[in-house]
Amino acid sequence: MGEPGAGQEHVVVIGAGIAGLLTAAALARDGRTVTVLDRDDLPDAPVPRPGVPQGRQPHLLLHRGLLAIEELLPGFGAELLAAGAVPVDTGELAWLGTGGWAPPSHQPHVLLATRPLIEHVARRRVQALPGVRAVGGQRVTGLRRDGASRWLVDAVTAGWSDAPPPPPPPSPGRSDAVPPSSTGGAASPPWPADLVVDASGRASRLPTWLAALGRAEAPVEEVDAHLGYATVRVRLPAEHVVAPGVVVLPQRGRGGGIAVPAEGGRWTVSGTGAGEQRPPRDLPGLRDFLAALRDDSLVRLLAAGEVEGDVATHRQTANRRHRYDRVTGWPDGLLVVGDALCAFDPVYGQGMTVAALEALALRRADGAGRLGRPGVAARAVRTCVRLGELPWQMATSADRVLAGLPTSRAPVSVLAGRWIAEVDRMSTHGDVEAQLALSRLYQLAATPTSLLRPRLVARWLRARVRGLGPPVRRPPVLRDELPVVARGPVGGAR
Ligand SMILES: Cc1cc2nc3c(=O)[nH]c(=O)nc-3n(C[C@H](O)[C@H](O)[C@H](O)COP(=O)(O)OP(=O)(O)OC[C@H]3O[C@@H](n4cnc5c(N)ncnc54)[C@H](O)[C@@H]3O)c2cc1C
Repeated sequence: MGEPGAGQEHVVVIGAGIAGLLTAAALARDGRTVTVLDRDDLPDAPVPRPGVPQGRQPHLLLHRGLLAIEELLPGFGAELLAAGAVPVDTGELAWLGTGGWAPPSHQPHVLLATRPLIEHVARRRVQALPGVRAVGGQRVTGLRRDGASRWLVDAVTAGWSDAPPPPPPPSPGRSDAVPPSSTGGAASPPWPADLVVDASGRASRLPTWLAALGRAEAPVEEVDAHLGYATVRVRLPAEHVVAPGVVVLPQRGRGGGIAVPAEGGRWTVSGTGAGEQRPPRDLPGLRDFLAALRDDSLVRLLAAGEVEGDVATHRQTANRRHRYDRVTGWPDGLLVVGDALCAFDPVYGQGMTVAALEALALRRADGAGRLGRPGVAARAVRTCVRLGELPWQMATSADRVLAGLPTSRAPVSVLAGRWIAEVDRMSTHGDVEAQLALSRLYQLAATPTSLLRPRLVARWLRARVRGLGPPVRRPPVLRDELPVVARGPVGGAR
């Protein structure tokens, strides 16, 4: 694709991660060119890349996120499936929460795949949209006004990746004024833009850029449970496993873990833990860590397969949100999405889904191309902050408990916490309706008030009178746990 033609509106999206790609899809329209810049050289294959250090960690796309991406990129799910993603009924996962095992149920399917594959399929689809291009090897270093309503996005080449970057594309429409680079790499001509979207993830430099534009600092909220991941890829023959995946949630003072399949007959097996409970970085240590969990499924899964490669660790997991909604005089034509706006502790699997919902919200705010108009970007930023509110509350309240941080003493929060614990207790004693209600909330498909439905309250009252059923039994995970008669043909489900 060439440079934007005369009279074409130009949108520059900083960052070709999930949030940047989905935003590009949301904003693509006739009369507009969208350029997505990334500091990495963008690979043609689904492989991890340095700019997304979380790329080797497990990534679950919630059903709500899948639906939102389908709206932006119709047929995305089918393409991911064709590329090897594994469809899974999340109600069939072996799920050990803080109170016990979740009862088996039927819930919407999700597709399990590695993060590089999810991103690869999304990037291929987005680049095929008319007027959209993704340009790698461009590390954005600053943002300036060019007159009253346009932007200049400063970038350097070769600032990040080890591989030599491609030469910048020919750019008749671009200014020749090259600012000096203060961050290494060769300065490239700035990218003029009518709209700029920061989707550069946790590494976003937007606070610095806003300060340079003379705006007051946005308050930053942070709740850090110091959660760490240690992950290996495991080739696991399908005939050994009967559960479609295993989740052991970390608890205060105890580690957890997750094992999920992905494309190519591989599983990712991870240990997770907060603070002192973070998993070690070496394979023998990870084995010992998984063996010491509340359940031994994960270490047995690891033993049943063949480990490929080394242990990938990740520790940048704080919940952090920038309250850009509180900045007075927010610049017109500037937007911010994804982890650059609000990053969540990833153990709750919300980041990609929230990014997809934000992209949909921007498409709505854009309407017939209104996003560049005065005041519209500020309103859109406020909408995106609001969209993150529920997942933020869920992730930060759970993390406060996990890390032993002070929790809210507001009566409504205390009561809500107690009620959620009661619904969870019903679920771990076999109440599928309670399990579905909780699951819909965690999957961002319902609001907290849905837990107050009269039917659920009536079930709780009945359980108070008649007593709870027995605790849910641990589901079989490996085939050799099934009674011999139930093992059936190889590849059967639980
Ligand atoms: C360990 C871990 C596990 C996770 N698991 C899940 C999960 O199960 N489910 C889920 O939904 N989410 C999960 N997430 C969160 C998810 O990865 C992100 O929330 C989601 O991908 C949205 O991120 P993003 O696109 O905003 O940022 P990123 O994915 O970080 O992408 C940012 C992009 O910006 C580029 N960039 C950065 N700075 C610049 C610059 N100056 N110039 C140009 N380009 C730049 C980077 O190279 C990168 O490509 C997990 C995260 C972690 C850390």
